[in-house]
Amino acid sequence: MNQLESTSQVLQDAFDPDRFRSVGRQLIDLLSHHFEETYARKKPQAIPYQSPEEALAFWKKDFRTKTSALNVFEEVLARSINVHHPRNMGHQVTVPALIGGLAGLVSDVLSNGTGVFEVGMASNAMERIITSLVATTIGFDEQANGLFTSGGTLANLTALLAARQAKAPSKVWDVGHQEKLAIIVSEEAHYCIDRAARIMGFGKEGIIKVPVDEQFKIRTDLLEKHLANAKAQDLHVIALVGCASSTATGAYDDLAALGQFCQKHNLWFHVDGAHGGAVVFSKKHQPLVKGIELADTVVIDFHKMLLTPALSTALIFSDGALAYQTFQQRAQYLWDAAQEEEWYNSGKRTFECTKFMMVLKVYALIKEFGLEVFEENIDCLYAKTQAFAKLIQNRSSFRLAVEPEANILNFQYVDVANENINQLNSQIRQQLLEEGKFYIVQTMLGDQRYLRTTIMNPHTTELDFMGLLDEIEQIALKLKG
Ligand SMILES: *Cc1c(COP(=O)(O)O)cnc(C)c1O
Repeated sequence: MNQLESTSQVLQDAFDPDRFRSVGRQLIDLLSHHFEETYARKKPQAIPYQSPEEALAFWKKDFRTKTSALNVFEEVLARSINVHHPRNMGHQVTVPALIGGLAGLVSDVLSNGTGVFEVGMASNAMERIITSLVATTIGFDEQANGLFTSGGTLANLTALLAARQAKAPSKVWDVGHQEKLAIIVSEEAHYCIDRAARIMGFGKEGIIKVPVDEQFKIRTDLLEKHLANAKAQDLHVIALVGCASSTATGAYDDLAALGQFCQKHNLWFHVDGAHGGAVVFSKKHQPLVKGIELADTVVIDFHKMLLTPALSTALIFSDGALAYQTFQQRAQYLWDAAQEEEWYNSGKRTFECTKFMMVLKVYALIKEFGLEVFEENIDCLYAKTQAFAKLIQNRSSFRLAVEPEANILNFQYVDVANENINQLNSQIRQQLLEEGKFYIVQTMLGDQRYLRTTIMNPHTTELDFMGLLDEIEQIALKLKG
């Protein structure tokens, strides 16, 4: 029975629960079948690669053709990278546990905006619980808490804005920049740190990049020198950012040393743990982030190592009260008391106004499988990466860039007869992409091009690793002609 008496048919249809039920059931069947086939290895391709022009042409034609939403979902499935595929080893995108997708569905159809308490009663309370849990797991005391926000990029910017509020000599938020401000980071930091500093108006000279050692970790022996240089140039350094881990190689900076340096010089210590901060959940790998408890802020993406569909990012403050200083604004129609620390109005502390119920995905996962699901995932993926590294070291035609600490692994195909190894590896990666049986990416480390893999899928086995190396050798042979 539809209650929209005098409304048009199209609006009645748009809200029809029967249609929702019917399409929804078909969609769940479609997706479940897709996952069954993927895990049974009946899907030959990790990525059904199309060029941008081919993809655009297809979707232009599709857009003009009269088909249903379900048809669209089918086409999307057929024309998208399959992140659940055991031979997808490309980017650091989590392979989401399927329950997370159902949480996303709930978030979407309820469309609770979360920014103010009433339109996110459940999600604001859940955010409080999960951020406290993450804070405790990091090793912070009860003063700590935080927020959820749309991705590591935004979380890093938010943390650096808080750092500026706390450490800049002038109240930049009210009076604009009076001094030249700067942050110190490793040259291997994710590009979004550089971007955040530029958004904040620090300019190029406000991002002081410290070289890394041969393990790709920030050289802590150079910190004093870089800070002194900055002072000599009239720059006021407000913060130091540690990588846990770095994006290109998955190297963990020495957080304990960085934390001590920050304490000595009264700097804000921010840890970009978007990818590898997740190891706080693993007893085995927690030592990689020794010293993280010295941080003022920590970012952890649940959509990287923690099985949660994108986006879902926690930003944790060791002193939760400072999170309210970041954006001091009046929005009378939202909040009566702009200055009050109301945990339940999450928009006071986030960049976003409207925000989907991203924490629900994390909460539902923990409820369904227990917290140990995170530890199991990390331990499993880090172990697989070690096994892959051994396989590479045992083959003379491959060279490992560096022993992996996380689940990111870079290697090169080497051929003594070929003088242009960089070009050869680029060609190999392009060929792999077009074939689509395996999905990997590439990166530059120094002046060397490497094939880059991230082992994100517990379903990936040693046979897949060997299959990839065999495939690369065959492609290289063909390229030789
Ligand atoms: C992925 C990543 C980011 C960016 O996070 P998004 O969620 O993609 O915005 C930042 N820093 C590191 C170290 C990362 O791995």
